[in-house]
Formats: sequence, structure tokens, C-alpha cells
Amino acid sequence: MRSKTKEIRIGKVKIGGDNPIAVQSMCSTDTKDEEATIKQIHDLEEHGCELARVSVPDKESLLSLRTIKENISIPLIADIHFDYKLAIEAARVADKIRINPGNIGKENIKSVVDAAMDSNTPVRVGINLGSLEKDIEKKFGLTALGMVESAMRSIKEIERLGFYNIIVSLKASDVLKTIEAYKLFSQRSQYPLHVGITESGSSFSGTINSSVGIGALLLHGIGDTIRVSLSAEPVEEVKVAWQILKALRLRKRGIDITSCPTCARKGIHVIKITKELEQRTSKLTKHLHIAVMGCGVNGPGESKEADIGVVGGKGNVLLYRNGMMVGKIEGDVLERLMKEIENA
Ligand code: SF4
Repeated sequence: MRSKTKEIRIGKVKIGGDNPIAVQSMCSTDTKDEEATIKQIHDLEEHGCELARVSVPDKESLLSLRTIKENISIPLIADIHFDYKLAIEAARVADKIRINPGNIGKENIKSVVDAAMDSNTPVRVGINLGSLEKDIEKKFGLTALGMVESAMRSIKEIERLGFYNIIVSLKASDVLKTIEAYKLFSQRSQYPLHVGITESGSSFSGTINSSVGIGALLLHGIGDTIRVSLSAEPVEEVKVAWQILKALRLRKRGIDITSCPTCARKGIHVIKITKELEQRTSKLTKHLHIAVMGCGVNGPGESKEADIGVVGGKGNVLLYRNGMMVGKIEGDVLERLMKEIENA
């Protein structure tokens, strides 16, 4: 069962409460390069990204925020470290700001919170294991509990200023510590949680680390927004995030593919067809379950479960639609599948 969290609005997207778990990603472009950043956000959006974050490391990037926001249709999140003045200005433009109170400084938090309050901008308190306050690190070490204590301290300081428009994240590159931290925190607070495994690695290792970490949390009902953090193109993050949500049946979007690993019995090129099918349908929002199966051993059973299925055989390829075998495919299997998807 999903943990009960407070509902918060980030621009036009509501998160927390009973709202769908939203997919977030972060631009890898230089924020000052408005054209490239806008283009990347459009691409992310086409692949299902619902919240886009950009870094604001300097004044020039801050100046680009407004143009970027005006040219995209999903909410824009500004990520600020160290410089509280940038955070104040960003809160007036972005739909949400992300700060790490540990590096913004206790004495500067009030000005940032005041600006966020004036513009009704939510603030993510983003705790990272690598930047805990010194006294907390001394007392709790670099542990999950240390992250939770750091978050609770920041939240109390912010709440004392009368501000409750808060989202929290507790990130570490260590999957188990991350899971533990979120579990501990969700027992103590109902602020919505942005979950992810930070600096989780390359496309390969990061996908696995994120799937294990985010998947475990979502299975525990924890998480209101997710970000898969990869050393790869941000679009890859969005694809993985959606796959995690789809695997757990939390959201539906685009194509779900069931395909066999193939063996000597295969009658069609399952691997090639599946790869190309995934690429050609990556922006599709219509939800369909497609089965691509090499032969009649498991093919008919899997195809009957799918909206559209193809099953390789000796000398012919069978087509299934809505659980029924409807005929044979003559010619290119992928092209026929694409036509079936278009017409579905
Ligand atoms: S469905 Fe057929 S081709 Fe695919 S792995 Fe199973 S036995 Fe092999």
C-alpha cells in the first residue's frame, strides 16, 4: 500500500497523495544554452518526462530560466547549490526549487524560504549522504539515520518559518542505505518523497541500481516522483523510469513488450524485431501489450495474453490480435507489427 503523503503542486503537476507517481529527469545541457536546453526538455517530454530539472550554477543560468520556462510545457525545477541568492531568484521563476540546506547555510535559509513562500514555489529539501552537516556526520556517521536526521532538522527549521510546501529526497549512491533512509523517513513524516539512487552509474549499472533501489521503495509504497540518474543521455533515464513504473503496474504508457530470449527453435529474428520495435515506438503514448515470440512453444500462450502477438514457426509467422490467432504474416514482420499498432 502506498504511504500517505501530503499533496503538493509543482506547476501544473500535482504530486503526493493519490496522484500518479511522476517521472522526473535532469538536463545535461548548459542551462545558459537556452536553445539546447529547451530542445532537450522537448525530447524528454516526448518520451514521458513530466518534470524537468536544470542546474542553476551561476547568474547567467538564472537569467536563462525564464526563457526556458516560457518555451516548455512541463514544470521546470531549478537546482541550486551553495548560493542562496540564486535560490531566491530561482524561486520566483521556476515551478520548484531544489536546495541542499547543508550547503545553502542555516543563516540563509530564511531568505530562500521567504521568496518561495511569496511565489508559492515548493522547495525540495535534497539530502545527499555526501554532504551531511558535520555534527550530524560526527554523531551518526555516513548512515541512513544521519540522512534522516539531517532532513528532519532542515524541515523543522523551514516549518518554523511557517513554510510547509516541502518535498524531500534522501539520496546516496549506496542502494541499501538509500532504501533504509527513505523507509525510516516515511515513518516519521508525510512530506512527499522524490526518490532515486544518486550517481548510480552508466546506462548498464545505473539502470540496474536504480531499478533495484527505486523498485524496492515503490514496492514499499514509498515515492511520489522518481528520477533514474544515469551517466547517459537523459532520455535514457526517462525510458528506464517508465519501465520501472510499468513493471510494477503503477502506470501505463506506450508499448509493453513480451519477447522470448530465442533459441534454436526460433522462426523469426526476435532480438532484431524487438530492438527496432522499441526504438520506433519510444514516443508512443497509447498503451499496448505486444508479444514477439520465436516459436510455438510459448508463443501462442504469450500472444493470447497480449493485444497484438507474432509467433514464429516453421515456414510461417502467425499473427494474434486480442488473444485470437487471426492469420499469417506475409512479408516483413516488423512493418506488419507497426501497422497493427497504428490501427489498434
Ligand atoms: S519461444 Fe520458442 S524460440 Fe523463443 S525461447 Fe521459447 S522455445 Fe525458444
